[in-house]
Amino acid sequence: MTDLLFTDAQLIGIPHPLPGRGWLATSGRRIEAFGDGDPPAGLRAGRTVLPLGGAFLLPGFIDVHVHGAVGSEAMDGDVPGLLAMSAFYATRGVTSFLPTTWTADRATTLAALDAIAAATALDSGGARILGAHMEGPYLSSARCGAQDPRHIREVDRDEAAAFLDTGAVRLITVAPETAGADDLLDECRRRGVTVSVGHTDATYEQVAAAVSRGARHMTHTYNAMTPLRHRAPGAVGAALALPGFQAEVIADEVHVHPAAVRALLRARGIDEVVLVTDAIRPTGTSTVGGQLQGRAVAVRDGAVRFDDGQLVGSVLTMDLALRNVLRLSGLPLSELWPVVSRNPAFSAGVADRKGRLAVGMDADLVVLDEDHQVVRTVVEGRTVHIAGDSADERTTP
Ligand SMILES: [Zn+2]
Repeated sequence: MTDLLFTDAQLIGIPHPLPGRGWLATSGRRIEAFGDGDPPAGLRAGRTVLPLGGAFLLPGFIDVHVHGAVGSEAMDGDVPGLLAMSAFYATRGVTSFLPTTWTADRATTLAALDAIAAATALDSGGARILGAHMEGPYLSSARCGAQDPRHIREVDRDEAAAFLDTGAVRLITVAPETAGADDLLDECRRRGVTVSVGHTDATYEQVAAAVSRGARHMTHTYNAMTPLRHRAPGAVGAALALPGFQAEVIADEVHVHPAAVRALLRARGIDEVVLVTDAIRPTGTSTVGGQLQGRAVAVRDGAVRFDDGQLVGSVLTMDLALRNVLRLSGLPLSELWPVVSRNPAFSAGVADRKGRLAVGMDADLVVLDEDHQVVRTVVEGRTVHIAGDSADERTTP
């Protein structure tokens, strides 16, 4: 692996903005140094110099809610499938992610978590797999969305311990009103697993209680939760008015109206919003139909639905989500960047080493052109994707 030296870059995601263009050097898997103007001459020796011509250089995207792509899904329990997902997401600027499970029976869920644990230990060659986001099974059947209601259940302490004992789980979506949720929340907190409120019929007060007990996240805000009513503000009211947690949003302009995304950004601020894709199997393919939970699904107009119109997940990618929110918010990349990297790094429990550009942090980088299209993706110091691919320029492990 050759160390890299980016020059003539607009650096985004550094502690203090630079007045002009700058440079950034990697050493092994980490960021060695950065600064404004031209790099010290000594840094050029032994490094591949990459002049960016004023392109943006920022922390790679982290997707903490993503089920699948290119024909594979986390629930398949298949390590090669997870690696195929990892390679695909890297082409969209993602440098790490949490493969996300669906609600299913115990054995299927354990097999999926075991595969994710195995893949986490591998050098994927694409986006780094950080562990799992468990979406269920301890959810509200009244707010199941596309989760299979046959498998939604109350918290079983032994079963939950078996899931957590796989060591794979970094984030878990729970409906806080479910019997046993308080115990699970305490256990997750003890183990350093982030609890996310979601697929929930909870009142505002129940969400507030979960947050004061340690929940730090909300799963796809607005979707599959109690809506805002003026005398019963519900989970959506908590997303807009209750401090102390980060809220996911699926910014594909199908799951959530652009104005609702703007409202969330204004209410929570840039530091407490996390863009996610919730992408599923057909993402990155030309597939238009398939099966899920034994039911037909169709991909049309950038959305995946059951035949009754129920949304099943998305075919969104992180780069597109970012471009959508740049456009609908009117905010510049220099302000908006935390929603795709720094904030999800906290959700996944990796903020000590990922999610921003600082000396000693992992060299997880994405280069975006002036239209915010992905030009290059670097994972832990190694280039894993170049747009239009010139394979000879890509460094091998
Ligand atoms: Zn999901």
